[in-house]
Amino acid sequence: MSKDLYAENKILRRRLDDYLAQAHKNEAKLRRFQAHELKLIGLNSLIELIQAVLYPEPSMFNWDVVTLLLLDPEYELRRILEEDGVVLQDHPCLMFAAHPDDLDSLFPFSLFPLLGPYKARHHSALYTGAHRAPDSVALLPLVRHGKLIGSLNIGAHNVERFVKGVRTDFLEHLAAVVAICIENAANLERLKRQGLTDTLTAINNRRFFDQRLKEELERAARDGAALTCLLLDVDHFKRVNDTYGHQTGDHVLREVAALIRAQLRGSDVLSRYGGEEFAALLARTGLNEAGEVAERIRANVAGHQFVDAEGQAFQVTISIGLAAYHPEQRSGAGRMDGEMLVGHADRALYEAKSAGRNKVVSAGEIDLDADRAQWY
Ligand code: GH3
Ligand code: MG
Ligand code: MG
Repeated sequence: MSKDLYAENKILRRRLDDYLAQAHKNEAKLRRFQAHELKLIGLNSLIELIQAVLYPEPSMFNWDVVTLLLLDPEYELRRILEEDGVVLQDHPCLMFAAHPDDLDSLFPFSLFPLLGPYKARHHSALYTGAHRAPDSVALLPLVRHGKLIGSLNIGAHNVERFVKGVRTDFLEHLAAVVAICIENAANLERLKRQGLTDTLTAINNRRFFDQRLKEELERAARDGAALTCLLLDVDHFKRVNDTYGHQTGDHVLREVAALIRAQLRGSDVLSRYGGEEFAALLARTGLNEAGEVAERIRANVAGHQFVDAEGQAFQVTISIGLAAYHPEQRSGAGRMDGEMLVGHADRALYEAKSAGRNKVVSAGEIDLDADRAQWY
């Protein structure tokens, strides 16, 4: 081999080694991105997803900051998260945009990732939740059906980490997966809520109540704490419909639901149990305290002025039956079941109706050995 050929061969070999090293690096990077994306795809609650996006395993990527800005003009995503017990202030890197323009202005030229140095004028609002502003940033547009639904904002304390002009296919892929996952999780949450919410009164429906009843009984048994069930039924509701029309009837149901809700704690369960009947579960609440709540609800409904379509005022009353389960005081060995608790409240409600309506009647604390009914 001539000297020249030998030198050329050496150069080519070195170049090949470089390519191989780069290929190995890319393969490792691809695996990390794939693992992260698979994790995201596997999550189905919105908060789990958001947490996984915001706080990736530190060993996965050498990113110093991640923030997420989501389009939420009707406060729907925030409501979903808050209903799941999320305290939004605990997640300063999660932000919401009130208007599509707020997002469009971040990506004025194209819907591709924007990489470059951090510029306070453009980027400071995206990184207010970070302990320290980054030196370089990658803004990934989250797009569904051609529209921006958010922006995933990555930052590094290294000005050369994200630079203009480098390939962004891994980041583009990640952004596409995140966008689909967020849309999917939000849709799932919407479906879950639709299936468990009564559309007329906007409180939960019976399906939700039945699920929670089981959970609340288990919790009461575990904690040794009382659980009280209230059944509330509008008196002579048929007459309301007959006199004022069913639309006014619907309006009454909405107002009664709101009047009941106003007297309950946020953690209490309230559902529309059937036509003009509501059911409530008061956790960690004994008979006396629940009786006082029931009496307040009864008095508030009776004192409320309802108005028909013509502006004519009228009164409505409700009857309430209640029954409590106190695990420490029950003598029987069997488990309390939900049907029995509701059954006792229903019997008390029937007594309230028989006694002239607009009354609260307690079935007492449920004893598996005997049915002790007492007037409240
Ligand atoms: P009671 O005091 O014994 O409870 O008498 P009531 O008239 O309230 O009870 P009844 O069960 O006889 O009638 C309930 C009525 O509630 C009949 C039904 O048409 C009406 N209703 C049920 N669901 C709805 C609804 O969604 N909207 C309206 N407007 N009426 C409803
Ligand atoms: Mg009724
Ligand atoms: Mg009824």
